[in-house]
Amino acid sequence: MSQWRRAELRAVTPESDTARTLHLTVDGWPGHLPGQHVDLRLTADDGYQAVRSYSLSAPADGDRIEISVQPAPRGEVSPYLAAHFPVGAAVEVKGPLGGWFVWKPARPEPVLLVAGGSGIAPLAAMLRSRLDLGDDGPPFHLAYSLRDPGQRWFGPLLDTIAKAEDPTVTAACLYTRTAPPGHPRPVGRITTADLDLPGFQPADATLAFVCGPTAFVEKAANLLVHLGHRPDRVRTERFG
Ligand SMILES: Cc1cc2nc3c(=O)[nH]c(=O)nc-3n(C[C@H](O)[C@H](O)[C@H](O)COP(=O)(O)OP(=O)(O)OC[C@H]3O[C@@H](n4cnc5c(N)ncnc54)[C@H](O)[C@@H]3O)c2cc1C
Repeated sequence: MSQWRRAELRAVTPESDTARTLHLTVDGWPGHLPGQHVDLRLTADDGYQAVRSYSLSAPADGDRIEISVQPAPRGEVSPYLAAHFPVGAAVEVKGPLGGWFVWKPARPEPVLLVAGGSGIAPLAAMLRSRLDLGDDGPPFHLAYSLRDPGQRWFGPLLDTIAKAEDPTVTAACLYTRTAPPGHPRPVGRITTADLDLPGFQPADATLAFVCGPTAFVEKAANLLVHLGHRPDRVRTERFG
């Protein structure tokens, strides 16, 4: 049974003008699988508590975990975590949580990752785990829908994938409002063309992971089912 554990902030990495990744160490952390999340609990001086869920954005690494937070306008918890929570301070986390939206590195099928905005967080943990397998891992493709280049999280990870030019691990940014000069895809919302990819067809037994805001997840999951993917092979995580 999961218990609340003390988690101390050790470092932060900016992901955009407003979002950041928090690098925490957790007392007695039992380890986790890519795709899992934690519940995070803040306690105010007067005892008031707030709990929110955050995906683990890096693979297991001893007592270290990473979460990546997008501040919600007028939100209670995320603006604090994304801008004010200071290095050296502590919160509590419970986890790891979730057993369905999980990629187990021993699985052989091709994996199609579909992210909307901050929904890239758990998919980044899966991508990093896949890269750790080197030549032994299955094909992976990330379709990452985002507003503009300033919202591109995990830049070093995506740059590593682009530079490696490894046809078995690929990533495409699907900009919805503004694309960088020369970007091959016109701006616009995700379409079937972004997901209808050789090597990631239903006949390849592709496993799809879709994560992001609820409306995005529903749209992308519907596109995948429309393309013929079995609903039980389209795993979804909604950030609400
Ligand atoms: C499994 C899971 C994993 C998640 N992983 C991540 C992650 O990796 N990264 C991430 O950034 N988020 C993630 N989330 C979302 C996260 O849990 C929070 O929901 C998010 O950070 C917002 O929390 P908050 O306290 O700032 O906002 P809240 O205070 O909960 O408010 C949320 C939104 O609702 C609005 N709102 C609140 N109250 C009202 C009201 N009375 N009337 C109108 N509007 C209102 C606020 O303006 C805000 O925009 C995840 C969620 C789930 C379920």
